[in-house]
Amino acid sequence: MKYGSILFLLLFFAFTFYHCKKENELPIVKDTLFYTVAEKSIIYASDTTQPFVFLNATNPADLAILQKQSRNVKVPNDTTTYLYLRMLKTIKTHSLTSIAAPEIGINRNLIIIKRKDKQGEPYEVFVNPKITQHSNATTTYQETCATLPNQYPASIDRYNLIFVEYYTLDGKKQVEMIETETAAFVQHAITHLGGGILPLTQDPLAFTGLEIDTIMAKPDDVAMRILLTTNYQDSLILRKQSIDVRPDSNDIVLKTLIKRMKKALDQTSGVGIAAPQVGINRNVIWVKRLDRPGQPFEVYLNPKIVMTSQNTVLFNGDGCLSVPGITGRTRRYSAIGIEYDLLDGTHKTEVVQGTTVSNFTSVIFQHEIDHLNGILFIDRIE
Ligand SMILES: [Zn+2]
Ligand SMILES: [Zn+2]
Repeated sequence: MKYGSILFLLLFFAFTFYHCKKENELPIVKDTLFYTVAEKSIIYASDTTQPFVFLNATNPADLAILQKQSRNVKVPNDTTTYLYLRMLKTIKTHSLTSIAAPEIGINRNLIIIKRKDKQGEPYEVFVNPKITQHSNATTTYQETCATLPNQYPASIDRYNLIFVEYYTLDGKKQVEMIETETAAFVQHAITHLGGGILPLTQDPLAFTGLEIDTIMAKPDDVAMRILLTTNYQDSLILRKQSIDVRPDSNDIVLKTLIKRMKKALDQTSGVGIAAPQVGINRNVIWVKRLDRPGQPFEVYLNPKIVMTSQNTVLFNGDGCLSVPGITGRTRRYSAIGIEYDLLDGTHKTEVVQGTTVSNFTSVIFQHEIDHLNGILFIDRIE
């Protein structure tokens, strides 16, 4: 055993010596702290007054970069300072609370944080940061990320208190305890350095592919087909519960749905239409405001009846574009309190009256909001 160990040591030294010699003959400098040509081409693409462009995590090529482990940087170093200056311009331009170098395509351990825990909320840079200790207690935050454009916020648990070890731009080592919101910003940014991203959460109110195909199949000046109870497939859609839409004046799909619903209504003598009647189970209705001067047609998003009068009336002559050949007498509230959204996101509350032959606005609203809940006027005939 002893002899074997000595022999092993001798062989080890001989090998090491040989290896060193070989490396001396062929010197290969492999310092990962040096910026690569590719990194420098991104960093120096513009002067320091120009922000970087964020990667997009929904793009597979960008996602591959975002998921890479980042490497440390040298400080003090001119390129690191230049990278910092452009990242600072970027975080300010987009009014963000944190930025990490991978978010702009540089897999390096450099982050800037908006210090909500300091006077004036200054932006501070953390070079090669590491979380060395943390509390057990966490808080759930609703976070968004600059690499997830227009995404719904994700619920993320963050430690309430962390100890961060990092370097300043002039190379001084620091250790600092950071708490609450600012600690959450640091954790978001440091997660990026490890190749982490926020989970892609879908907006639960986003239009489905099928809805988009149906709505966008024709231009916005072409009426959508009105579904009929006499068609079995149509009747299934007419009986389904609808869900809300996200009000957004820039949403081309929503705007097209609204216009094509109106075109469908215009082809009839109807006084109202609900989105399920054109095959879209969404809370959108058009109502003819018989109670207003000029009796305009108006569109309502996500309408809900929040109050009803004690009094009801038997309304004579209820009918529906989707129920051919039938009219009837339905029981309706004299007045209702409604809430709804406008396209620009404004939320409104209103009391609507009118159950007479010349003004039956309250009945129209009740009829159309029934459609959103899969209810037809024939269910209310007395
Ligand atoms: Zn982020
Ligand atoms: Zn109807």
